[in-house]
Amino acid sequence: MKYCRFLSGLSLCLILIQAASLVTGQQNYCLVIHGGAGIMDPGSIPPEKQAAYAYHLNKALTIGDSVLKQGGTSAEAVVRTISYLEDCPLFNAGKGAVFNWEGKNELDASVMEGASLKAGAVSGVKTIKNPIKAAVAVMNNSEHVFLSGKGAEEFARKQGLEIVPNRYFYTKNRYESLKKLKERERNRNQGDNHGTVGCVALDKMGNLCAGTSTGGMTGKRYGRIGDTPVIGAGTYADNATCAVSCTGHGEYFIRLGVARDVALQMDYLGLPLEKAAANVMKKLGALGGTGGFIALDRKGNLTMPFNTSGMFRGYIKSTGEKEIAIFATDK
Ligand code: ASP
Repeated sequence: MKYCRFLSGLSLCLILIQAASLVTGQQNYCLVIHGGAGIMDPGSIPPEKQAAYAYHLNKALTIGDSVLKQGGTSAEAVVRTISYLEDCPLFNAGKGAVFNWEGKNELDASVMEGASLKAGAVSGVKTIKNPIKAAVAVMNNSEHVFLSGKGAEEFARKQGLEIVPNRYFYTKNRYESLKKLKERERNRNQGDNHGTVGCVALDKMGNLCAGTSTGGMTGKRYGRIGDTPVIGAGTYADNATCAVSCTGHGEYFIRLGVARDVALQMDYLGLPLEKAAANVMKKLGALGGTGGFIALDRKGNLTMPFNTSGMFRGYIKSTGEKEIAIFATDK
């Protein structure tokens, strides 16, 4: 009897806490990032470079965390976090993006909000400093979801976004990668592509958002577009299920609709996030696709699966719990 009273007291307490959080709109928040997946073992990246990656991943987490801590939306957190990673030359997005066959940087990005299912994306843009901001502008200030090339650049300019010459995105390393690839005329998929960036976030209001930004794959030709700007393939968010941002060999992610498949496994099969993610990773592997993704649900459960030897990744929670990792062996 006493025990029962204790239990009902406890459940009352929990209900009160839940009700208070509904009234104040306060709930736990969480932010997860990736900086690309690929073939990378501890021996292939010098310790100083590993430290530099960890430094910038940590900085990105801190930026996103401060937005969420102050009550900002998950979309604000995603765009601020990804913009930081786009400006960082270590990653294959914005400054530091890989080169296409013609020696130009050609960028793709997308964003999606889980509350409204609103989404925005740009592809093949060469002069927008932060493509993720252009994706957000498409989502919020246009009647469209997906803009490409010159039209997307004109839209971004009219939106007042920063426009830069294509050579702004140049980095020596990435240019050398293109030269090497051309010299060897080897399979373009083996190029040095890793470094796509992505972020999924859950804000204090309980809303999810996902975003992804990339330069694509080294030596890409003929206007090739990967999964990154394709809603449902590289990026997806729905408050009813989860937010997902992918990285890897885009053609496979498009064919499997990876990001939305994770959400649909949860929706149709009622699976928990981790199981849904594992099922999709199995399909990706079976088809011969390489890469991974980050995913987060509304309860703050997160997963960061990949089938390559590494994926730059990390997360931060409102509890202060934080993790940054690079290699599969760090799991
Ligand atoms: N998914 C990107 C693409 O195929 C590349 C990457 O994430 O490494 O364009």
